[in-house]
Parts: sequence; structure tokens; C-alpha cells
Amino acid sequence: MTKAKQQKLPIKDLLLDLNGPEPGEDILALCGDRNGRFVEQLRAEEEERRAEVQAAHRRTQPRIGVLAIQGDYAAHAQALAEAGAQPVEIRKPEELAAVDGLILPGGESTTMLKFLESRGLFCALEQFCGAKPAFGTCAGAILLAREVLNPAQRSLGLLDAVVERNAYGRQIDSTILTAPSSLPGQPLEMVFIRAPRIVSIGPAVESLAFRDGSPALVRQGTLLAATFHPELSHDRRVHRLFVEMVSKTLPAGIQKERT
Ligand code: GLN
Repeated sequence: MTKAKQQKLPIKDLLLDLNGPEPGEDILALCGDRNGRFVEQLRAEEEERRAEVQAAHRRTQPRIGVLAIQGDYAAHAQALAEAGAQPVEIRKPEELAAVDGLILPGGESTTMLKFLESRGLFCALEQFCGAKPAFGTCAGAILLAREVLNPAQRSLGLLDAVVERNAYGRQIDSTILTAPSSLPGQPLEMVFIRAPRIVSIGPAVESLAFRDGSPALVRQGTLLAATFHPELSHDRRVHRLFVEMVSKTLPAGIQKERT
């Protein structure tokens, strides 16, 4: 038993007297109830400071929406968080007002299209993605394209590209490839699932990675599109690129202070 426990010293003397509790001893138990409450207060203040620092950090992160109506939006949200953004699930047009950019995930573009049209989201996305950064992956890339083939279907028409749906066969032809890309570092792993093919692109579209000679990752201004699923790989370079694209559109410094 320590001297402190025997004498119940006030906390300040205790801190001077001890080099800290011995292994396995709880300083609150050593201090007695009155001083114990004091230590609890210190801990609560420390916790409050930590929460403030975290909140300040969150205010400096871009807030990026993930269209959460179908497909693997949860994996995108996780990838965005790992890439330094705050993910926000979007299901209604009015929710777009709170985000700085948007991911349109993979899934089934025909089904997504029906949902978008029935919920008033199609027009809202046309406006949002025409003004703020948007990243379409697989079915999301199909939605962004200027023209869709196999079969033709309505699209947002913002990305100057012609996209052929299911161009590599059916589900069984899904594959993982690793190929060089314009992103810094190692060759890029690309997970293709009933993937579309970008058949042609306009002059303002830059290709950052390819599959068999066709662009698989493209950028046009504040639009990014991938025919693969970067959220299903461990590599976060593609999501980091999009987070950077979004950050650049925000006022310097961070950016936006939010309530
Ligand atoms: N084949 C789907 C479509 O045409 C896209 C597949 C995907 O998003 N993985 O919409």
C-alpha cells in the first residue's frame, strides 16, 4: 500500500508526491472521493478538448455525398472517409445542398435511372453535377456520359464520352486487372464488374488509366469517371484524387466553416 493511500493526500500533493500510480493501481481509488471527482473533472475537460479538436478537423474536410439508392455506396463512403473527406449519404434532392461534391456509385444504371426519375433526383443531379465535382463509377459513369449504347438510354449528358454498357460480357466476365495509370505510384488495381467500355471521348476529356486500349479512368474538368470499382480495392489513390478535386473548388484555407 502506498503512502498516498494511507494518508489521503489532496490531489496536488499527491501529484507532487507520486510519480504516478503503481502498475495496476487506479489514481481515482488512491485519491479518495473528493479528489477523485477532481480527476474526473480533468478527464472530462480533456475529453471536451479532444472533441473540439476533432470537430475543428472535420470542418476542414470536404463534405462529399454518395448517392445511396442502390449498389455499393457504403464502400464508397468508407473509401471517402479513408481519403480524408466526410461522406454523406444522399437519397433526396434537398440533401444535395449540404455537400461539396458527389459520387454516383456502381449498380444497375437502368434501375438507378428509374429511381432518379421517380424521385425528382434526375434534374437535381443534372444541376448539381453540372456545377460541382462529381465522380461516377461503373453505372455512375454510364449515368454521367453524353451517350449510352447497348442499349441506348437516358443519361445526364455531362461527360463528353460515349459509353457502351456490359461491353465485356456478363457477370461471369468480371475481372480484376492491374495496369499503369497517370496516378502517382504503383500500377493501379481495377475491379471490373459487368463493366461498360468508354468507346470514345471528346477533346476536353483526359484518360488516366486504360483497359485494353480503352479509357477506364477519365477526367473532364470537375468530373471524374471510372469503368471499374475503386472502392473495392485497398488503394485509395482514386478517391484521394476526387477529394483533391473537390477541395480545390472550396474557398482556400478550408475551406468552409460549417455549423
Ligand atoms: N452493367 C451495369 C449497367 O449497365 C453496370 C455494372 C456496375 O455498375 N458494376 O448499369
